[in-house]
Amino acid sequence: MLGGGQLGRMLIQEAIHYDVRIHCMDPAADAPCRHLVHQFTPGQLNDFDAVYRFGQGLDVLTIEIEHVNVDALKQLAAEGVKVYPPPAFLEMVKDKGLQKQFYRDHGIPTAPFTLIQNKAELTAMFEQPCVQKMRTGGYDGKGVQVLRSAADLDKAFDCPSVIEELVPFVKEIAILVARNASGQMVTFPLVEMEFNPEANLVEFLFSPAQVDESVAAQAQSIARQIVEAADFVGLLAVELFVLADGRVLVNEMAPRPHNSGHHTIEANITSQYEQHLRAILNLPLGHTDALCPAVMVNLLGEKGHQGPVYYEGIEEMMQHRGVYVHLYGKAETRDFRKMGHVTCIAPDLDHAKAMARHAMATIKVKAIV
Ligand code: ADP
Repeated sequence: MLGGGQLGRMLIQEAIHYDVRIHCMDPAADAPCRHLVHQFTPGQLNDFDAVYRFGQGLDVLTIEIEHVNVDALKQLAAEGVKVYPPPAFLEMVKDKGLQKQFYRDHGIPTAPFTLIQNKAELTAMFEQPCVQKMRTGGYDGKGVQVLRSAADLDKAFDCPSVIEELVPFVKEIAILVARNASGQMVTFPLVEMEFNPEANLVEFLFSPAQVDESVAAQAQSIARQIVEAADFVGLLAVELFVLADGRVLVNEMAPRPHNSGHHTIEANITSQYEQHLRAILNLPLGHTDALCPAVMVNLLGEKGHQGPVYYEGIEEMMQHRGVYVHLYGKAETRDFRKMGHVTCIAPDLDHAKAMARHAMATIKVKAIV
């Protein structure tokens, strides 16, 4: 596994049910997976030699973060290592420009866009409010910004970017789909996301999504179409916008376990992490039905707190029925850093939402001063 963060940590949690040994590479000596894997290799994920050396001789190589050296993955795949997600797919997803072209080429509904090289090109073409996305290097809302008027051009990124129409969406939803090498394909029930407007990253996630049948059908069909068009193997998360008229557009995708699937650990028959393992090991995929309504809240580092972390309010929340606390084992917190999450399950969604709001008000991720 390339990357040793929280997604890897939760993958390991499922892998211990099977006869699987996980080797992990991550640049951070204190990566969340560091002490949980069979073998840990410190190494830069973007470095060809480091990735190539790490991958040689492995049965299967996967990722838990996209920012890895794709050329090394291609080389390893050519030499017989099973690499999932497929390196060419990862290469396309890593570049938001190529990703948008993929949607366009395959007739997958997405917001209209143009590609620009730099700020000067953007300034020359700017007419109406738009969203600028750096083609590469962004994550968790960084590298994405709304430009409402010409006055905002001052803060525009001066780099190759996607310029997208500002979508007046009414909801953001996500769907997970998995496919194994034998071609079996299974989707998860839809979830709905609520973003922190300041940090631009997911704060709450509701399952099931409160959407009608037609929205669910469109999302499923889009997810399946992407996977089939790309001959994809692994787990894929697709984030979508729902418009007021009920149409669904793809925002973006991630070819790995995803923040929008954390709740599946407690709330679905098969978790996204187990499903990813099943897919990349070419095992039968699990059933994905929801067992109960669930709400997931990300535990983000408090703004203005930087340094060794402590968590306020965890014990208070642990007294409640159906509240599951997950801490990622990161030593240091900083503004809005993803430090953990809480999943609340309940017999109905309103109760789960109330408990999640309570968790959000109660748990604070702070730095020891
Ligand atoms: P990241 O890769 O950092 O998660 P996204 O492309 O998902 O970035 O964008 C982050 C958020 O910005 C989205 O979840 C959405 O709320 C908002 N956003 C992105 N694209 C658009 C758009 N075309 N119109 C309106 N809002 C957008």
